[in-house]
Amino acid sequence: MEHPLTIYNTLDRRKEQFVPLHEPHVGMYVCGPTVYGDAHLGHARPAITFDLLFRYLTHLGYKVRYVRNITDVGHLEHDADDGEDKIAKKARLEQLEPMEVVQYYVNRYHKAMEALNVLPPSIEPHASGHIIEQIQLVKEIMENGYAYESEGSVYFDVEKYNKDYHYGKLSGRNLDDVLNTTRELDGQEEKHNPADFALWKRAQPEHIMRWPAEFKYKVGKYPDGDTTEYKQFTSIGFPGWHCECTAMGKKYLGDHFDIHGGGMDLIFPHHECEIAQSVASQGDDMVHYWMHNNMITINGQKMGKSYGNFINLDEFFNGSHKLLAQAYSPMTIRFFILQAHYRSTVDFSNEALQAAEKGLARLMDAVNGLEKITPSAASSVDAKSLRKNCYEAINDDLNTPIVIAHLFDGARMINNIIAGNDTITAEDLKDLKETFHLFCFEILGLKEENDSNEEREVAFGKVVDMLLEQRMKAKANKDWATSDQIRDELTALGFAIKDTKDGCEWKLNK
Ligand SMILES: [Zn+2]
Repeated sequence: MEHPLTIYNTLDRRKEQFVPLHEPHVGMYVCGPTVYGDAHLGHARPAITFDLLFRYLTHLGYKVRYVRNITDVGHLEHDADDGEDKIAKKARLEQLEPMEVVQYYVNRYHKAMEALNVLPPSIEPHASGHIIEQIQLVKEIMENGYAYESEGSVYFDVEKYNKDYHYGKLSGRNLDDVLNTTRELDGQEEKHNPADFALWKRAQPEHIMRWPAEFKYKVGKYPDGDTTEYKQFTSIGFPGWHCECTAMGKKYLGDHFDIHGGGMDLIFPHHECEIAQSVASQGDDMVHYWMHNNMITINGQKMGKSYGNFINLDEFFNGSHKLLAQAYSPMTIRFFILQAHYRSTVDFSNEALQAAEKGLARLMDAVNGLEKITPSAASSVDAKSLRKNCYEAINDDLNTPIVIAHLFDGARMINNIIAGNDTITAEDLKDLKETFHLFCFEILGLKEENDSNEEREVAFGKVVDMLLEQRMKAKANKDWATSDQIRDELTALGFAIKDTKDGCEWKLNK
């Protein structure tokens, strides 16, 4: 099979031809949400970016297994190795079972993703359902000598690992940089080195999510032989945050798979630690292509709870946040995100969103306009090159802004044909329709929104009311011919007209 797609591999910092390890199969893992709050823009961007990739790879004929996880345990506050578990904290504050919190926000996340027309992944594993696999990973790392026990917890020995391999190869750091930027946090005294990270944490008494685990590690060799002495210990605790993706990626996609994706904020430490865990357990990295989407700012500012600009997706959809001048539909959000290349930053502002809303409406009008075109004997437009141009752009590391620019050229072409300034043959028209449907709906994942249908229905209803008013006037003027004509034509269209003493009523018999 041909492999037309090139993607930017964060590991090599360049675009590479995408060739799967076992064609036609493609394994793709993307870090999903930590479900302790409502989905916001920071969740929408990776979901839409990798949905686009999932859709396009599928379109190219690959059989894609797309794994996107749910983090429901082990993700501590400030992404640190100490502090409270994000979900346990929410459960404590709201007096709920942790899994009640998880279920509630997973349901809401799914609803938001469905609204954004993000396809569900092939597998959506929960971290809490894969404790055994994570314990196994920690055991392997310990067995290979890259982890140590401290106060019942297990830490990854970054310094030792870095002697044999390069810790920091994904983020382009070296261990000194890491040490210089590591914050001194409480609980660091358990670690041999501030750069070390937790693989397994012993649960404090107040920690509600806890599992028993048994580990053993080598303590040395007998001087007169090759027998190794082991120390064994039991620890009731929970896995470190980075373990789940390595363990679940391996379980569902194998020791080596094609793509691992996520937001750029995950490159360090999360993905760097994933690589270290994989190399320390099995001798090499599991991932062939590392892909990362860039971040989102709001009015030029970083998004964060402390900045008061933390807008969740529901607030966008209903316009209830104070920074929003109006509601923005899920498709406006999706279109807006796709108008930027996934490796560029995106800045949300009302002006930019309103422009996206208008642009999307223009594109959808063009798609609908395609149905109004009557073909001619000759084409004065070049419809075929549109498809070629769109493919070229999407194959170039998913360059959606260029795809959309080409679709706008296509929209102008459609409008000119409708206006009678240009002509198109039946064959070219078929090709043009296919290109628009393929790129707008199948690949970019846009869809006609119900809201606009409702609005349209209201408008159509008003037109019927207007016609019936004209009929009443005609009747009052004893213009029976016009009154009958209006009634007959509406009846032929499927409307039932009933005269009442106050005027008339209508309904559509369909
Ligand atoms: Zn992850």
